[in-house]
This record gives sequence, structure tokens and C-alpha cells, in this order.
Amino acid sequence: MIPYGKQDITQSDIDAVVEVLQSDYLTQGPKGPLFEKTVAKYCDAEYGIAVNSATSALHIACLALDLGKGDFLWTTPVTFVASANCGLYCGAEVDFVDIDPRTYNMSVDALEEKLLLAEKTFALPKVVVVVHLCGQPCDMEQIYRLSQKFGFNIIEDASHAIGGRYKNEAIGACRYSDITVFSFHPVKIITTGEGGMALTNNKRLAEKMELFRSHGITRDAERMTQDPDGSWYYQQIDLGFNYRMTELQAALGVSQMSRLDEYVQKRHLLAEQYNRALADLPLTLPWQHPDSYSGMHLYVIRLELEKISSTHKEIFESLRQLGIGVNLHYIPVHTQPYYQKKGFKFGDYPEAECYYREAISIPLYHGMTTGQQETVISALHEILK
Ligand SMILES: *Cc1c(COP(=O)(O)O)cnc(C)c1O
Repeated sequence: MIPYGKQDITQSDIDAVVEVLQSDYLTQGPKGPLFEKTVAKYCDAEYGIAVNSATSALHIACLALDLGKGDFLWTTPVTFVASANCGLYCGAEVDFVDIDPRTYNMSVDALEEKLLLAEKTFALPKVVVVVHLCGQPCDMEQIYRLSQKFGFNIIEDASHAIGGRYKNEAIGACRYSDITVFSFHPVKIITTGEGGMALTNNKRLAEKMELFRSHGITRDAERMTQDPDGSWYYQQIDLGFNYRMTELQAALGVSQMSRLDEYVQKRHLLAEQYNRALADLPLTLPWQHPDSYSGMHLYVIRLELEKISSTHKEIFESLRQLGIGVNLHYIPVHTQPYYQKKGFKFGDYPEAECYYREAISIPLYHGMTTGQQETVISALHEILK
């Protein structure tokens, strides 16, 4: 099976991890801060907080923004469930904004419309989580403009977008957001096995996220309620978690970062080859916003079903049978049983549901060979001819 995504691990990655195993620190050593610095510097952000997953990063990002009971978090329905669940972890209510039919990201028009309604019912969101789907940056300038007008905070879920750029600045620079979150799961652009990071330019938010990452415990005397009893002393000043990243993960991350640009370039090259080879098929190919440079995490095709005799499911299964590990990103979150129990219904977000009926993610990863890509292309030609 040709997978839809796959990590790239080199000998220098392996050496970096082995070096940690032979060192004094398996966790809470020098590699964590080095990885944070490396990513923050690449993105031109002030602070990086490395954690054990993007899900944890989203959780502590929401907590740092004081999201809680009685608050609303809005996100897009076309995302992984974690972008919404982080609001529920904090006791907030989650709501969704439909997608733009061209970029598949949250629609700015739909967002503005929903904000105008919410303003009248005093139900404005405290946090909006935008997702750069497939790596394509959202229209951050416009979303930021709305955040200023309606007073909400922005978290960028950039799990798909490290290495991408928006208006010539790295995704993660947080120019138009409070916090940006990356995932380093093995299917993503770079990996640490499991892992994530939150970036911000706000010192107060960075300090809060650091606290929530590690039990709410501080060793900084200035933040304590009394003078330290002695050099052993620490204080728990909030309720946090153990969301720390290990040194093995951080060392792997530092090593992977040295190839990030190469990874994204290769993904663009593969995408361009797909663009050319699939142009004549009854498909809608990914549309690239001219203002931005995608991280190109996923290559999603949409079937033009009115021109095809088979169903979406039949085409998906035929591709799998031919050894093509296609996938579907994502089942709209509001249609999940857990969210249906909260009152969301099919039909609530028609663009997201239409996307779901047509979308297929086809294989795209750094190590993909020309032969593997040709296999995918000829399978699509055969099935859709
Ligand atoms: C992968 C992903 C996550 C979760 O990442 P983990 O590191 O696995 O927790 C969250 N949001 C999006 C959009 C993702 O693709």
C-alpha cells in the first residue's frame, strides 16, 4: 500500500536520538529548549512551548487565553476533532463556521455573518481556532480585522502548515494571532513521533502555557506567594498537566527541522506533478491562494460526481484495492456522534458536508518516488476514465 503520508527518518535523526539515550537527560534537559528556540527562530516568533502533542498545545493555548465555562470557542467543521475538543476540555461551548468552497478553510464571510448575529445575542466567541487546512494559510488579515472589531482571540491550528508562509512571513510568526500550534505526529511535515508546539509573541501567554504544561508548578521565586523555603522549593500556583515533550523527541525535532525547507519544496514539486497529470480528469484540484505558500501537508482532490458514474465510496475503495492508501480529511466534526448529542445536525454546515461527499486525500510525502506517484496517477486515470 502506498501510504497517504509517511515520515522521513535519516541516519542523522537516529544519531541525534541515540546521543540523547546516552546522555544524562531523557526529559527536562537541554534539547527541549533547543528545539523550542529552533522552531521559534525559524518562524520569527518570540516563544515556543514544546509539548507532547498538538492536542495538548491546543488545550494549554485555550487555558492561557482564559477560556472557560460560559465562553464560546468557534472553529471550522473540516478539521481533526482536536481543534474543537480543546474548547470542551476547558468547559467552554464549541460552535462551527462553515468553510470557503475554494480554499476549504473557514469562510471569512460566514465568520463575519455569524459574528454579527452573535453580537446581538451576547454570544460572541472568546476564541476562534482557525485551521490552515492541507497547509494552505487562512485569510489571517481579514480574520484578525474581525477579531479587533468583535474582540476575540485567535489560535492558529497550523498542524498542517509548518514551513508555509503567509504574505511572506512564516506560519507561526503570530502576526495575526495570539498563539500558533504545530503537530509533529509522523504523518505531518516534520515529526517527533508524537509532539507539538505552541508559539506566541506574548510573554504572559508563554509563561502561562509553560505552567500548564508542567502541573501548574513554578520554580520562579517572583511568581510565588512567599519567599522560597529553600533551594528545593517550588510552588503549584495553578492546575496544570504533564504535557512535556521528552529529550528524545526534541532531539529528533531539531534534526528534522534542518530539512524542513527541503520537505516542503519536495511536497510542492509532487503537488505540481499531480496538478499537471490530473488536470484532464473530472476532479477539482487544490486551489492555491496567490498570497501564500502552502505547507502542502495534504493533496485533496474533489470528485466532480455529476461527471462520474461511480460513487465517492466506490472510487475510494477501488483506489484502496489498487494499493493506494487514500484517506479522507476530514469527517465534519459536527457530524460526529459526540457533537450530534450536543445538538449539531446534518445540514448545519452545507459547504463542509458537500466537501466531505467529494474529497479524497491522495498520497503525498517526502520519500514518494516517481514510480509511486505514477502508480497513483495511473490508478486515478483508470478508475475515472
Ligand atoms: C494532527 C492534527 C491535530 C492533532 O495533532 P496531535 O499532535 O496528534 O495531537 C490537530 N489539528 C489538526 C488540524 C491536525 O491535523
